[in-house]
Amino acid sequence: MPKLSVKDVDVSNRKVLVRVDFNVPTEEKDGRVSITDDTRIRETLPTIQDLLGRKASVILMAHFGRPKGAPVPKYSLKPVAERLAELLEAPVQFSPETIGEIAEQRVKSLQPGEVLLLENVRFHNDEEANAPAFAKALARLGDVYVNDAFGAAHRAHASTAGVADHVTVAATGLLMEKELKYLQGELASPAKPFVVILGGSKVSDKIGVIKALMEKADTFLIGGAMAYTFYRALGIPTGNSRVEKDKVDLAHEILALAKEKGVKFMLPVDNIETQEIKAGTTTARNTQRLTTERGIADGYEAVDIGRETIELYRKEIAGAQTILWNGPVGIFEIPDFATGTVSLARALAESDATTIIGGGDSVTAVKQAGLADRMTFISTGGGASLELLEGKVLPGVAALHDQD
Ligand code: ADP
Ligand code: MG
Repeated sequence: MPKLSVKDVDVSNRKVLVRVDFNVPTEEKDGRVSITDDTRIRETLPTIQDLLGRKASVILMAHFGRPKGAPVPKYSLKPVAERLAELLEAPVQFSPETIGEIAEQRVKSLQPGEVLLLENVRFHNDEEANAPAFAKALARLGDVYVNDAFGAAHRAHASTAGVADHVTVAATGLLMEKELKYLQGELASPAKPFVVILGGSKVSDKIGVIKALMEKADTFLIGGAMAYTFYRALGIPTGNSRVEKDKVDLAHEILALAKEKGVKFMLPVDNIETQEIKAGTTTARNTQRLTTERGIADGYEAVDIGRETIELYRKEIAGAQTILWNGPVGIFEIPDFATGTVSLARALAESDATTIIGGGDSVTAVKQAGLADRMTFISTGGGASLELLEGKVLPGVAALHDQD
């Protein structure tokens, strides 16, 4: 059942309480907190502007950092209110309280077409505990609840889920809809061939995704540290590469499942390997084809996919109609080991396929490569996107009201 959309709610002259994801990366210098990447704030603008245009009073709530249930000045949302005002080119009022008398007064005097941001919901323990009294106090601040915080939708907290039980209208925001459209709708019956690129540090993080997508994908392109747990399962030497020993059986199982389903499950045929994880240590062993006899050398650790693998993967990408990418294929934080990740990002940018990027580090990698605007869709949620891809129900979505 599709969820009620904010688009279908009459919001004019009503107080609309919107949960947004303002959990932005910051930097502290000389006691001043500055925002280093305002993507998440920008992504909420369509919903906020739509509401303002329809003469709603917009009350925003969000979490920021991990203040552990008490007010911590460096986790105040005040700097976010300032940045939002710049982006909206309109004043943004701020309530130093999340709930309570001051918050209620500010809400009361808020006019149609005006915006108010409440202080960090996580200044209250009751937020993460999803305490009904706190959820109720939040609900009192609005006539309509809208959840646009996709990045927090995998958490059943008071502001993301509990609050919906205490309002008469609970709808999805525009960003939430876009995330669900791509990560759920588009991937429910993807245009084929459907290629899934999976990397990152651990197989264990991605098992759910592999299993869920095994039903739909034509090809998996595996990279990152997880590749070497599969090597181990195949008896290929892994040197000092990261291997999750307790997941080797599972790797076996996945390989067998792929075979059974006729899914192409590709592992790197060559790798960049190094004795030390730092720049300038790349060895010359990087273009030799791996065989079962000759895997990663003793004393060496695989840190990126090799040149031949990049070529093989690029061919698969070029032939795809839908591509989902989660997890960098090497330690991309170190430029020497970013070649694989950047090359695949380029291949995606050049492809005509629908390209969907999910996962915090994969998104960072694509942005670093300067290719973000060449992708069809980039998710704002790391954990939430993984859970959705695993086929899980997100509590923050489930709590919203169904469409009539
Ligand atoms: P995402 O956030 O996109 O889901 P993950 O968090 O699963 O991705 O993994 C990202 C991390 O994986 C990066 O910090 C990267 O350095 C690491 N990584 C990638 N390849 C390797 C490798 N071969 N060895 C060790 N770590 C790796
Ligand atoms: Mg990550």
